[in-house]
Amino acid sequence: MRAAVYYRATDIRVEEVPDPVAGPGEAVVDITVCGLCGSDLMDWYSDAKAPTVLGHEIVGRVRSLGEGARPDDGDLEVGDRVFVHHHTPCGVCDICRRGFETLCSTFKSSALDPGGFAEQVRVPAAMVRREILVLPDHVTDEQAAFIEPLACCVRGVEKARIGPGDTVVVIGLGQMGQLYARAALARGARVVGSDPVAARRELVEAAGAVTLGENPTADELRAVFGDRGVGVVAMCTGAAAAQQLGCDVAERGTTIQIFAPARPGASLPIEPNKIFFNEITVQASYSADPGDIRDALRLLADGAVNVDDMVSHRFPLAETARAMDAARGKGDSMKVLIETGR
Ligand SMILES: [Zn+2]
Ligand SMILES: [Zn+2]
Repeated sequence: MRAAVYYRATDIRVEEVPDPVAGPGEAVVDITVCGLCGSDLMDWYSDAKAPTVLGHEIVGRVRSLGEGARPDDGDLEVGDRVFVHHHTPCGVCDICRRGFETLCSTFKSSALDPGGFAEQVRVPAAMVRREILVLPDHVTDEQAAFIEPLACCVRGVEKARIGPGDTVVVIGLGQMGQLYARAALARGARVVGSDPVAARRELVEAAGAVTLGENPTADELRAVFGDRGVGVVAMCTGAAAAQQLGCDVAERGTTIQIFAPARPGASLPIEPNKIFFNEITVQASYSADPGDIRDALRLLADGAVNVDDMVSHRFPLAETARAMDAARGKGDSMKVLIETGR
């Protein structure tokens, strides 16, 4: 089969690699669509793993099943249209029991073979049991490519306990900010979004959020909610100026949720005294667990979250390098998909 192998950001080669084979309990999936994630563009992260096959927002069809391959909560057959998640927690260690499933060492070490920017992927047995979701007919492959990033947002809004009427400021309206805003809106929250790029603001407004122009001040953002105050600031970008704005927006009782990596070595620009005298909560939400992917699929299947307006580019596997360039062009790109079937 073919796979797009990442050597460096400027060196991605589509190569012939051996077809994966399903061992006992395992599955091999023919990939149809794989979404490009912001983390696929973090060179410092990918370089450490190179050569590697990136891509972890995977949709496809089951090609073959090893002996005894079966999800814990249902059936799986050759030909089924599926979403495949890329990590799985053990579910029983102390970290998992405390609710930090995405930090479990099993989660970190579990992996698909080789990755999503390939024609096929092998799904290890533990992941067949919990991380493959059979898609309802009315959820398209493109929509299902949003399950993984939306699941991260589901986890984020749950961690921040966002509910009906809550006030949320989303800083950074790239693909994760867009999905975070939609996940919060689906829970009945009021959302203000901030991003210097006009097209991104228009997109989140169409989803039901409010925006205030190119560079709103912290005071202007806070004023939208008036006396109700800012319940949650979701930092959906690691850009320094955006993180400054997010910290400035926080006030009495605000939860600041870090939802995106920053540049290595960066610090959060907030004084401990501001945190103390305002009882600000600083928390983070990272990745998604088996419950989150199921919740995300439900939101998409029910139409509670719409993602159809978020796809900006589609490329065949052979053009993975071009797809990554397109995703780097922040102004006009939103969700970039690799459509392996093309
Ligand atoms: Zn991702
Ligand atoms: Zn665990």
